[in-house]
This record gives sequence, structure tokens and C-alpha cells, in this order.
Amino acid sequence: MAVQTVATTNESADSTGSVDLGPASGLSCRECGERFDLGPIFACEVCFGPLEVAYDVPSGDPEALRKRIESGPENIWRYAPLLPVPADVADKPNLNPGWTKLVKADNLARELGVEAGKLFVKDDSGNPTHSFKDRVVAQALEAARAFGFTTLSCSSTGNLAGAVGAAAARAGFRSCVFIPHDLEQGKVVMAAVYGGELVGIEGNYDDVNRFCSELIGDPAGEGWGFVNVNLRPYYAEGSKTLAYEICEQLGWRLPDQIVIPIASGSQLTKIDKGLQELIKLGLVEDKPYKIFGAQAEGCSPVSVAFKAGHDVVRPQKPDTIAKSLAIGNPADGPYVLDICRRTGGAVEDVTDGQIVDAIKLLARTEGIFTETAGGTTLGVAKKLIEAGVIDPSLTTVVVNTGDGLKTLDAVAPTTGMTAVIRPNLDSFREAGLA
Ligand SMILES: *Cc1c(COP(=O)(O)O)cnc(C)c1O
Ligand SMILES: [Zn+2]
Repeated sequence: MAVQTVATTNESADSTGSVDLGPASGLSCRECGERFDLGPIFACEVCFGPLEVAYDVPSGDPEALRKRIESGPENIWRYAPLLPVPADVADKPNLNPGWTKLVKADNLARELGVEAGKLFVKDDSGNPTHSFKDRVVAQALEAARAFGFTTLSCSSTGNLAGAVGAAAARAGFRSCVFIPHDLEQGKVVMAAVYGGELVGIEGNYDDVNRFCSELIGDPAGEGWGFVNVNLRPYYAEGSKTLAYEICEQLGWRLPDQIVIPIASGSQLTKIDKGLQELIKLGLVEDKPYKIFGAQAEGCSPVSVAFKAGHDVVRPQKPDTIAKSLAIGNPADGPYVLDICRRTGGAVEDVTDGQIVDAIKLLARTEGIFTETAGGTTLGVAKKLIEAGVIDPSLTTVVVNTGDGLKTLDAVAPTTGMTAVIRPNLDSFREAGLA
């Protein structure tokens, strides 16, 4: 993502002192720590570093906070006291994503040589538009409301476009979203069906993102909330809810190891932030955990940097079936490297063939049909277990971020009917199925 500051784009943004985003107290620069008022800005005016939401952390008894969360709604708003949203967020028109299943994957564990009861799949295909993107869009929507935007927009590798279209439809916003023109049909249909405008850009995701940064600075983009550009600090916070849910669903325990896909790297960095917050709040025991990042070989800038011991990420031109992860110049790449190194984890990549195998493995063992991003994540988990990098005796969570129905092409060539028979028993027997 191009790093640039952007002038506030509408009137209500000038009165940010009165913006109510619950416990969010401002924005702070991840590089130099400079503080800013809440507003639709995403880069530091001092050093151009990325901004993130700063909070008045709820103080007091962890037991009281835990009770409050547990008695909340079965969606991400149970964590509203820890998110940049107004206290009455659950009453507003919103898709209310989250509280997806944490599946104990014993069949998969057996195949991978992991101890029974220790392997889990956090299945975010169960969200309203079938990817984890509903979590982040829900936060950006509240920020858009608070700043007086009327159009929701984004640059997307596919899933985000659908999540924005659906959220805008529910909340009564106009939407206009941008995608690379050559995405999977499932993603295109899913993004278009909610009735907003969907624009294909002749180029890859990095071109789409660059275009959106230009549009923000232009009068044509005035009044537009780009969920992952000028609303990015708020958007990003939505991924913390994955960390909160995983720990709560494990009985308020941290997992030992967690495997997360990397596109821009935002989700991985915010899952780590969420885990750190739970430790600081006293909601989980403070103990070490390891974070592992997953990429496709055909778009592996972070994995390559990790293995080479580099701190900077060299951009790549993506070429992989894992299109939802195909960001060649990931904005959060350096932070991902920091986190995976600091926690003792790793970043690894797998081939397109291994992605397809992993999609089928998860379907065959646990009845979960994941998209290519999930195939990437599980493929990397398998590779790291086999290499002895992931410890099979410890609690491991693999994050499944999307739904296989959106990427049918990935498995269609190698799946199909066992046989076609006439509707009688002889024919059934002849086919060797009796
Ligand atoms: C967007 C996306 C991701 C990861 O996104 P980040 O940019 O790294 O936060 C992972 N899986 C799927 C299916 C996605 O759509
Ligand atoms: Zn700064």
C-alpha cells in the first residue's frame, strides 16, 4: 500500500473530537508513537508510518470483564469493550459476524501425527459472506458511520469486495468496490450480487490498491470510506476478534501454536495484538505462544524474507491459485516478520499442488470445504509439522479464513462423480459399488 497522508475528506471528519468509537481514544503511529485524533487517516504525518487505534483500556477486575463478554451476543460484539465501536453497536444495522466454530480436528490430527485433542480449525467460512473479511468490514463500517461517509469502498483480492457489498447493503450505504478483473467467478458473483458497483481493474491487486490510493486523493473519491485504505486502522482491529474467540473457545487459554495465512499481513499482526491484549487484561495466563505465517509459493514475499533473514520484504509479481492471498507488496510484511521471529514461529510457503491437496485433506478428514487460502494455511501447517517445526504434542490452531464454494476451479479438475449408472441395482453392482 502506498504510504501517504490524506486530507480529511468530509466535514464531519473535522469534528473528530466528538466521534464516539467506544474505548478508542485516538490513533498512534506504529513507528514513532505520535498520537492523532480519531479520523479517516492511516499514515503518520511525522514519519509516514502506519497508524493504529489506541485505547482507554478497560481497567479493573478481569473476572467482571470476562462475565460481561460471556453474557454478550454470539458475535464479535461480545468484545465491543475492546473494539473501536460505540457501546450500542449491536443495535445498529450490521451483519454481526463472528463467533464461528472452533472445530476439534481429531481426524486431521491423526493424519498429521498430532496428539488427539490438540489440533483445532478456527472455521471462519461460517461468517455471513463466508470469509473472515466480515470481521474487519464490520469495524470499518462503524468508523464510516462515525465519520459521516456515505459510500463504502475497498481494493480487494475478492473476499473483501463481497463483505463490503453485503455490509453496505445491510447498513444502507452505497458501495463501489475494486477487484483485479481476472478473479474466480465465485468471488465476482458474490461481490456483485448485493447490488453495489463492482469494478474490475486490468491489473493485479497491487495495481488495484495503487489506484484506490489515487482515488482517495481525488475529488472523485470524496466522501468515500475505503475500508482497507483510509479506514484501515479501524478495519484492522476486526482481526483481533479471531484471537479473542480462539482463546475464549479454548476455555480462556492461549493456544501454543497458531497458523495464519498472510495476504497484506494485517490479520496475522492483529491476532498477535489481540492475544497480547488478553494477557494484559488478565483474561488469559501469560505464557509463550508461537505464530506461524502461511503463503503460497507463487506469492511468497514474506516467506522468502523470513527464510533469508531479511527485515525488509521484496515485492513479487503474484502467480498462484491462492488469489485471496495474492498481494505481492504486503503492507504489514515487516511486522509479520517481527512477530513470527519474536514468538519463535516461522513463515513458510507451499506450492499450488500442495494447496489443492490440503483443501481435499481438510474436506476428507473434517467435512470442511475451504478455499485456496485455507488450503495454503493447512498445507503450511502440514509441512511445518512434518519438518518438526510445529510441535505435535502442543495445542495448535489452524485458521480457515474462507469457503471452498468460492474457488471451485481449484479442485474441480481432480474431483467428480465416482460413476454414472442407470437407475437400477444391476448397474450399481456393475459399477463395483455394492
Ligand atoms: C484477505 C484474506 C486473508 C488475509 O488477509 P490479510 O490482508 O493478511 O489480513 C486471508 N484469507 C482470506 C480468505 C482472505 O480473503
Ligand atoms: Zn510516525
